Amino acid sequence: MRNFLSIILLIFFIPVEIKAWGFFAHRKINRQAVYSLPPEMIGFFKHHIEYITENAVNPDRRRYAVLGEAEKHYIDVDSYGDSALYYLPRYWHQALEFYTEEELRKKGIGPWNVYLTQLALTEAFKRKDINAILRLSADLGHYIGDMNVPLHTTKNYNGQLTNQYGIHGFWESRIPELLAEEYDFFVGKADYLERPQYTIWDAVTWAHMALDSVLHFERIVSSRFSEDKKYSFEERGGINTQVYSKEFTKAYHDMLDGQVERQMKRAIKMVADFWYTAWINAGQPDLNALVNIQTELPEEKFEYSKPLDVREHDDMAKKESPSTLRRAFLSSIWRPGL
Ligand SMILES: [Zn+2]
Repeated sequence: MRNFLSIILLIFFIPVEIKAWGFFAHRKINRQAVYSLPPEMIGFFKHHIEYITENAVNPDRRRYAVLGEAEKHYIDVDSYGDSALYYLPRYWHQALEFYTEEELRKKGIGPWNVYLTQLALTEAFKRKDINAILRLSADLGHYIGDMNVPLHTTKNYNGQLTNQYGIHGFWESRIPELLAEEYDFFVGKADYLERPQYTIWDAVTWAHMALDSVLHFERIVSSRFSEDKKYSFEERGGINTQVYSKEFTKAYHDMLDGQVERQMKRAIKMVADFWYTAWINAGQPDLNALVNIQTELPEEKFEYSKPLDVREHDDMAKKESPSTLRRAFLSSIWRPGL
């Protein structure tokens, strides 16, 4: 019976969908970025806006199927010691002069990967390769989104080192899902980036500087809520799941004073800037001519016999105490008379 129960518990606490910036936020960021593009680009991107939106989350799904993908989504700046933000090389080839590739990958290669993806997008524009343009634009939007999330810049990525387990998904999924309706996503027109490598490192710097508030304010708000007010249960995919309560989420959000909205807006603007810059660098190919070309956009398959053992950014399961698990389990299956 005991074994049976633990198997059931495991089943119930495998995350329904693995998220980063929350699937909701990634989709929103890619979608909104389209509206900042210049007239020469917007027709093509609007024509494919559903693809750009839906495929914004592919890189996260790929993490479990493709070796080398997971480390593209983060950089543990603080694992390099003090002042790392100032001395870490902005260019990948320079970074390889100071560190082994293995070490760099272990600590995350997020910002360098953004630039490499942008170069690939530039090449796709030059070739007028519709499939590659769309796939790489969607990917690039995702990676830039991640670099604007404070918890993607630290080894304490899920509050696991400060007893705040679950904060990753809280900040980047729960908050936008509950409150982004109120946000103003107008970011203006895309700008050309002279040095995209520096722009993406600015994003990392900015995001990392916001980390202190992310963690500190959660601790303050937690001290004002009892455990049963901090969490509540909501149905997710037919499963009664423990989530941060709406009251707690609002209180934390108020204290952050617009931080999540600011970061989302920075991400949207940056995604548009990177797409635009890639297009300019490719010699401004005529995208309107591509709109009417019938194309079959292949769906990416994520096949694996066993998911890769990679970092779980927002896994909630491990933080649960046995009593909370039991409570969640009972409330998820209990029916009167059973
Ligand atoms: Zn990601």
